Amino acid sequence: MIVSTPQDLALIDATRAIDLFRKMDVPILGLVENMSGYACPHCGEISDPFGAGGAEAAAKVMSIPFLGRVPLTLSIRRMSDAGTPPAAGDGEDAKPFLQIAQQLIEQLNPKRQMAF
Ligand SMILES: [Zn+2]
Repeated sequence: MIVSTPQDLALIDATRAIDLFRKMDVPILGLVENMSGYACPHCGEISDPFGAGGAEAAAKVMSIPFLGRVPLTLSIRRMSDAGTPPAAGDGEDAKPFLQIAQQLIEQLNPKRQMAF
């Protein structure tokens, strides 16, 4: 699984990694856009400090699945640093991770019914 911010520079690195994995026959599950959108903790306004949609566009160009986006939020950073990553819970911050997991499971086993 490749994780990249939406910036061109980061996507250039991701593209290099994907090229290398392909040469070495390492299976690629897909691409995740990290730090995708920032919700202001004061007013809730969403901004895109690293741009938006770059990883999804790159996934399309490289013909690999786009698995989803993880937003840049203070709470994800705080919980992760505290050793309780939101992905392990069922709060609002877990949703992007659940969606990515769901996408992966469906891709690996299309007939499986989801229990989320
Ligand atoms: Zn604000």
